[in-house]
Amino acid sequence: MTQVQKQVAIITGAARGIGAAVAQRLAADGFAVVVNYASSSGEADALVEKLEKAGHTAIAVKADVSKADDVRVMFDTTEAKLGKIDVLVNNAGIMKVMPLAETSDTVFEQTFAINVQGTFNTLREAATRMNNGGRIVNFSTSVIGTNLPGYAVYAGTKAAVETFTHVVAKELRGRNITVNAVAPGPIATDLFLTGKSDELIQQFSKAAPLERLGQPEDIASVISFLAGPDCGWVNGQILRANGGLV
Ligand code: NAP
Repeated sequence: MTQVQKQVAIITGAARGIGAAVAQRLAADGFAVVVNYASSSGEADALVEKLEKAGHTAIAVKADVSKADDVRVMFDTTEAKLGKIDVLVNNAGIMKVMPLAETSDTVFEQTFAINVQGTFNTLREAATRMNNGGRIVNFSTSVIGTNLPGYAVYAGTKAAVETFTHVVAKELRGRNITVNAVAPGPIATDLFLTGKSDELIQQFSKAAPLERLGQPEDIASVISFLAGPDCGWVNGQILRANGGLV
């Protein structure tokens, strides 16, 4: 019997947090997955092993998304090992919460380098190298709607990502590729939990009418839709997934 070639999905920052849940979900959906990581090599290898044991196809690929050369090599490695990509999930990101007046040049530069230039680097490769009929999913944030103090730089990076989403969706006309973004509310990962008091976490978890924090799997299901066959007519959109927060 001939083996059907699996479609290939790159998930950036997939060793932990939301990205790890997305990698597991897309692997379960039938994709061969690239678990990209920057520093969490142990977690990336462990996830690949877990996926392979469950009968899925997965590889771990190190790349700092803010570096164009790393991203190029990640696409080269993916093509050599699994084939041309069908899905790109731009999940990698960082967030430092502080008033704009207290934000250092370094924090500003790092946040834009990873969240904006990182997304730019992978989009640029994907635009010329991914299969027609593919899916791109970027990561924004619901803070664009809440505009909370302390989030100016972070939300600013995600505003750029939302604009990339709208424009690139149009630039890929004729290729049958959809480009959308998910904009999560608070999700219980290191990015959200680190540095917050229990009281503040409680406050955030009661803010949405569904009265809980989101879990990585809540976002993985949204990505499963945006990256899957049922998303053929949704293009250039931002999907807020936040329990009704905003
Ligand atoms: P997280 O748990 O802190 O994980 C961040 C991931 O990004 C890690 O896998 C990390 O990889 C990766 N990463 C960071 N810098 C990277 C770089 N230069 N190159 C490649 N990978 C890099 O964060 P998360 O909560 O899962 O966030 C995932 C996405 O959701 C982000 O874009 C974030 O802005 C967005 N988001 C999160 C929330 C939330 O409440 N959690 C809400 C809205 C939006 P390494 O460990 O290998 O460095």
